[in-house]
Parts: sequence; structure tokens; C-alpha cells
Amino acid sequence: MTSLMLLAVAQLPARAAILVEAEEGTLVGTQVSANRSGYSGRGYVTNFSQEGDRVVVRFEARAGLYEAQIRYAAESEKGFGLSVNGVIASGMFEPSNGWRSQSAGKVELRNGVNEVALEKGWGWFDVDRFEFRPAAPTPVPRPVPAHLADRHASTPARELFARLRRTYGAKTLSGQYDLRDTDHIKKVTRLVPAIYGSDLIEYSPSRIEHGADPKGATEGWIKRAKTGQILTLSWHWNAPKDLLDKEITDANGNKVDARWYKGFYANATTFDAARALADPKGEDYRLILRDIDAIATELMKLDRAGIPVLWRPLHEAEGGWFWWGAKGPGTYKALWRLMFDRLHGRHGLHNLIWVHTGIKPDWYPGDKYVDVVGVDLYPSDRRDALSGTWETLLRAYDGKKLIALTEVGGVPDVERMFRFGVRWSYFVSWTGSLGASSVKDDELRRLYGAKKVGNLGGR
Ligand code: CA
Repeated sequence: MTSLMLLAVAQLPARAAILVEAEEGTLVGTQVSANRSGYSGRGYVTNFSQEGDRVVVRFEARAGLYEAQIRYAAESEKGFGLSVNGVIASGMFEPSNGWRSQSAGKVELRNGVNEVALEKGWGWFDVDRFEFRPAAPTPVPRPVPAHLADRHASTPARELFARLRRTYGAKTLSGQYDLRDTDHIKKVTRLVPAIYGSDLIEYSPSRIEHGADPKGATEGWIKRAKTGQILTLSWHWNAPKDLLDKEITDANGNKVDARWYKGFYANATTFDAARALADPKGEDYRLILRDIDAIATELMKLDRAGIPVLWRPLHEAEGGWFWWGAKGPGTYKALWRLMFDRLHGRHGLHNLIWVHTGIKPDWYPGDKYVDVVGVDLYPSDRRDALSGTWETLLRAYDGKKLIALTEVGGVPDVERMFRFGVRWSYFVSWTGSLGASSVKDDELRRLYGAKKVGNLGGR
């Protein structure tokens, strides 16, 4: 281990690009090498191989926002964790074929001494240096068109969308899945999330067949919406049939619970959405319609009560872990459009604002079928401003669709995100992700009380 060194950046007249050589840092389980040519400075750091291996470098800077770059070499794709002043941003090194620079997104530096650390992540990469270039916050997102994908949308749906358009860029609306966490937030902060999230899972016909009981969930949502909370619904759609309904052993030899109540996972069913859609006269196609119709019955109760829904079906398809995403983007998009046409055309529902969840462009169902583009993220560090993901989505959808953090682990730091120019339309924290140890009461009060957070009753 070398001694900890300070790289003095003498008398900066203004913010300037800062180069920080990795080999000048404190090595934990790692080594300095000069074997691979083309490095800058005295060499580079290598041998990230054991848990906890890292390099830590201290350097001086002027306070502000910077774009962080890592100069690295890796033979194949490797995950990394870059920690800047204790806040970790996770990313992926691509295969580099020699030295290559990779953006790690925006970071905040402070006046005086700062600390950058590269954690082991997946390991097996070399790091030459870090570079911090002065950056500005990402520009405010442009307004999106006023009309909804459903051209016959109800007045309540239009009014809700108008409200979302009005707040977009100025505030991020808060949201929370499920009652227990919502009550916890209310008790601790005396504030109520703008959005209430729930799921139609128990209305899936193949669950009902197994004795599942939705326990009047829809009637509960109607009551909840009448308190003024916005309703968002996802649907962990249990596959219509072909549930394995047993414990299985996966390719790694791990036991996996694939019983009937896990039937929304691709590994718990042999139901093939591609095959079903390919045969509109077949039994499997009929079962897909049966299930959509069952859900339509519940959504209709909400429509009749004048309640619009941020409707987020078929979520995380591109991850491939749910059966509706397991057959690729073509099948997913066909299923999305089938559902869209069925709910509007056949059932005459007009209270839906369509929320697509995903980043990959080839999975996007199309402008005519989507109102909001969302992403589900469980960052390893809750303070991560997620600027890389935001900028990716903004490049694709700015001025076209609202962009939202549709599912998130913990409660995001919206105030910090705004400093980076990260301005989600709304966030919705997933069930149970507040857990007493993950978000302490004082922190919850600070996060929910932030000026840029729009809560129930706020403007
Ligand atoms: Ca170097």
C-alpha cells in the first residue's frame, strides 16, 4: 500500500478539468503496474480481484458539478462502482481493446479536498486515471404535447395529464406503493405522497382459480383516489395457464419457488406469448383476452367513478424475467397494442394514461400508444442522482413523453437530483423499500419536505 497522496491543483482561477492519476492513490488489495503501455502518469492500478479491493485518491477541486470519466482497460464487459465523496454511481465498462474513457455521469465536487474511489465491482479491469470536467446541470425538459394516446380520453384523465404537464420540470411528484408504507410516510412526515401505487395481481384469473382473493382492492382504490391521491396501477399478470406450480432448480443449482403464485415470472410458466399471439383463433389467444377482460372489469369501476389511472401494465418487459417480456420486443409490443386496442375499443375505457416501463429503444411500443416513459431502478446508493439514466431517456423522449421514475428502491433525493438537472415527472417507491434501516425518520422528513417534491395538497 502506498501512502495517501494529495494531488494539489494549485490556485485554480476558475473551474477547470481535473486529471487524477489512479496510481497516486491509496491501494486496498490492488497494485500499481506499468506493463500495459499507453498509460498516463507513472502507471495504472490493477488486480481488482477480491471483495473490498479498491483504490482511493484524494484531490483538490472547486465546488460544482462535473462530468466524471474513467480511463480504463477491460477485456470484456465489467460492472464498476465509482464513489465520489462517498456517493456511489454504478456503471458498466465496455470491452476496451486497450485504454478507453468511459463516462460515469455527473458528480458533485466540493471546495478543497475531494475523494474518488473505484470499487472492485465485477473486478478484472485496469484503471489509469479519473477526469473531472466542469459540467452544467442537464437542461430543463421541454413540454410534451397535450393530447393523450387515447384520443377519447375522459375529462378526469385529461385533467390529470394537464396537471402532470404543468408540474413537469418544476417539481417531481412523490409516490408510494401500498398502504402500509404510505401510512408510515404520513405518520413520520405529516405529508402524503401525491401518488398511490398498487397492483392488479390478485385479479389475474389463474390466481383466482387457485383461490386468490383480491379482497375488494378496487373499491379500496376508489376510496383512496377520493382523498385526492393519484392512482397508479401495475399488473403482475399471472400467466393465463401452464404454471409450473412447483419448486424448481435453476441452471446454477439454486432452488427457485415457481409455484402458482409466482406465475408472472417467466421461469414459473411455460406459457409462450409469442405462440399465443401468432394464432388469434387459438385457445392461448382466447385466454389472453379473457385475462385482459377480467382486468377491464376492475378498471371500468374506476372509470365509472371518474378516477383516472396511471396505467403501467407489462412492466420491466425488457428485463426478460416476466413472461410478457421473455419472447423479445416484438411480442411485447404486439401484446401492448392488443391490450391498448381491447381496453379502448372493446371495453370503451377512457380513464387510462399509458405508462411504458423501459429504456431500450426497440422495446418502445410507439408514440401513439404511450403517454409516459418510466424506468424502474434499485440504485446501490440511494443518493445516486441517476443522471446517466435520466440523460439517456431525455435524449430519446424530450418534448415527446413525460419521463418518470416509475418504481424505485427507497426514496430518491429529489433536491439533489434537481442540482444535476434530473427532473422526473414523478417517482413511486416500491413496497417495503422504506424499511426503518434504509430511510431513517429524519431523512424521510427531509426527502419529503424538499421544495422540489410535490406531495398531496401541494401545487
Ligand atoms: Ca495513470
